[in-house]
Amino acid sequence: MNKKTLRDVPLADQRVVMRVDFNVPIKNGVITDDTRVQAALPSIRYVLEQGGSLVLMSHLGRPAGKGYEAEFSLKPVATHLEKLLGRPVAFAPDCLAADAAAAALRPGGVLMLENTRFYKEEEGSVKKKEGESDEAYQARKAEMKKKQEAMAKKLASYGHLFCNDAFGAAHRAHASTAVIAKFLPIRVAGFLMEKELDYLSRALEKPDRPFVAILGGAKVSDKLGVVRNLLTKVDALLIGGGMAYTFLAAQGHSIGKSLCETDQLDYARAMLEEARKRKVRLLLPVDNVAADRFDANAATQVVGMDIPDGWMALDIGPRTVELFGNEIRQAKMVVWNGPMGCFEMAPFAAGTFGVCRAVAESGAVSIIGGGDSVSAVNQSGLADKMSHISTGGGASLEFLEGKTLPGVAVLDDK
Ligand code: AMP
Repeated sequence: MNKKTLRDVPLADQRVVMRVDFNVPIKNGVITDDTRVQAALPSIRYVLEQGGSLVLMSHLGRPAGKGYEAEFSLKPVATHLEKLLGRPVAFAPDCLAADAAAAALRPGGVLMLENTRFYKEEEGSVKKKEGESDEAYQARKAEMKKKQEAMAKKLASYGHLFCNDAFGAAHRAHASTAVIAKFLPIRVAGFLMEKELDYLSRALEKPDRPFVAILGGAKVSDKLGVVRNLLTKVDALLIGGGMAYTFLAAQGHSIGKSLCETDQLDYARAMLEEARKRKVRLLLPVDNVAADRFDANAATQVVGMDIPDGWMALDIGPRTVELFGNEIRQAKMVVWNGPMGCFEMAPFAAGTFGVCRAVAESGAVSIIGGGDSVSAVNQSGLADKMSHISTGGGASLEFLEGKTLPGVAVLDDK
């Protein structure tokens, strides 16, 4: 990674304004999975050990942007962090009124701000209203951008330097993820950000070969750019999950009631042709678990590449697991995003877990991205066999598309 990190700057007596991704699942005030908090600890501890202090910013969920909503409060996260760190974590209940609390920080002190998304300026976007003229819309947009800058400036005023460790939010050009960088003289990556970028850029820039990408999940349209970009990098591309059936339909197979995006059939044909030209092995399911309805108790049968009328394919079949497994086991590097079927329902989970096992057995450098594949890997009990499990689904997809992430672009080059 060619961006400066916390290691490259003096931190003693410095107040670091750090964007973290504490967007964790919370039920009745209890954090049900603290992976993202744990993932930020190395950066947090490092700043404190070096004699710096911290102002932590994060979003949580999708509040309306009109002020406090208990359900989206970061207070439980601050309390949890306090336990993990074994030192007090002050909490600022309004992220834009924390001047005194920030100024009171001494070396080793930590202040956590309330959810930045309680202000709509954080995202800084406006939607065109029905019947609104273009001019009025543009004027509202410009007004919102100004407000976003003002918010970013305020957040920046709390400290001496900006650290972005929120990989999961780095694909957003928000006040606390990107715009803030304009207002602080030093902008560095945290260690989680560094690790995520190191793995993903290694895959795109100098992959160990054979390099195999596995894509799944519901929709082709979410992964258009990813397929296109990965075809220029990989030796083999394995496509499973709901998105595979648009590809099978594009090849002229009948797919019954399986997911199909008819407006992406030409795209699928173009990608199949592109793979052929580039001599990339693009593999699709050769057999499938079909169900008579979308239900864990549905009648099922294993069918080939053609799905009978009235049936829907909800998982890849055992021969496909073997076919994909053979590619994966020979790989030296694997990138995986998206489940191979509806793994949330037991009868349609074997494909995803089979692929999980193959990745674990391959000994390849393995990078898992995307919320659903990450939870599948966690459920499989094989998480510790993976080299890197990304904390950012959307961000890792955009990175794999070859896009520049706004929250990374603003950081200082080495
Ligand atoms: P995504 O958010 O695009 O990664 O998609 C994940 C979702 O795709 C999961 O909830 C899966 O249940 C669903 N999915 C995977 N395979 C299929 C399939 N063959 N048909 C319908 N949904 C699927």
